Amino acid sequence: MKQDFKKISSQVVDWYLKNGRHNLPWRKKVTPYRIWISEIMLQQTQVKTVIPYFNAFIKKYPTLQKLSLATEDEILASWSGLGFYRRAKNIFAAKEIIKKNHSNKFPSQFDSIIELPGIGRSTAGALMSLAFLVPQPILDGNVKRVISRLIRKNIAALKEKDLWELSTKLVNSEDCFSYTQGIMDLGATVCTKANPTCNACPLNESCLSAFKVPQQVNVKKAKNKKIILMSFALVQTKKSLLLTKNDTESIWSSLWIPFENSKMQSHANKLELTRNEKFRHELTHRSLDLDVNIYFSSKEFKLDTNQKYEWIKKDRIEDYGMPKPITKLIQQL
Ligand code: SF4
Repeated sequence: MKQDFKKISSQVVDWYLKNGRHNLPWRKKVTPYRIWISEIMLQQTQVKTVIPYFNAFIKKYPTLQKLSLATEDEILASWSGLGFYRRAKNIFAAKEIIKKNHSNKFPSQFDSIIELPGIGRSTAGALMSLAFLVPQPILDGNVKRVISRLIRKNIAALKEKDLWELSTKLVNSEDCFSYTQGIMDLGATVCTKANPTCNACPLNESCLSAFKVPQQVNVKKAKNKKIILMSFALVQTKKSLLLTKNDTESIWSSLWIPFENSKMQSHANKLELTRNEKFRHELTHRSLDLDVNIYFSSKEFKLDTNQKYEWIKKDRIEDYGMPKPITKLIQQL
């Protein structure tokens, strides 16, 4: 069967106009800035998780001008709990470039957008199509899946170059906004990884895999994740908490965390162990086993270290970027 990509593209647009997720906050009011923040948050995170973070971020930084005044720490604080913190660092680095090279205005040229940290070809394509209405292909995980099913080929067997070629053929030059949102929504809600609902799909007449994708019964297979052990000493006084800024290139790079237990040994005489917490925190590809000693100290003390640290006032803790399990632990103190 010869496939008509122009027709498929129009079908995606029609489907989006009737069935798309028009209520998503970044779609209700469209600006390059809001699309940028949403696209970065949506890299590696699901829509339903992103929504409250996006709303809070936009409330705090409603415009690029407001964001341009933020420090990296402040952006990381707004990102606390969303994970994959490199994205927040990229937002900081990108807004600095926008301030310096583009007079604080989000660039409208593909070549300038793709040079910004955290933006690859697909995100740049999405920004062009959604924010500037200039048709460009996108190729995220969902789009790859839809395309490979349309032509009935295994994704792994397809070359990136071929997928881009097909994605380019599908772009709709008349309504690139609806097409781009539509293909994303179709992949996320209809042509899902497991058990796509082909009977509800607008492409089921031209798709070579329609009604042929094997049904999966037990979709949530336990993943064989790597377990990382982490041992911390969380020290508090009545009014403050002792935290250090993680300057290593680890998962929590640049975030504020407690010192490792071993680093507190030389201060043991000032500390009273109040309790110990052991718990597991699940990340997408790893499990973190945390073992945290919680200490009380009657007063703040100096540490002999070249690591950046602060005794952070408890009522200012929200101004600091911290990983989710540490924030949760602190809230329970
Ligand atoms: S017909 Fe089925 S397999 Fe094909 S694109 Fe639609 S949902 Fe996916």
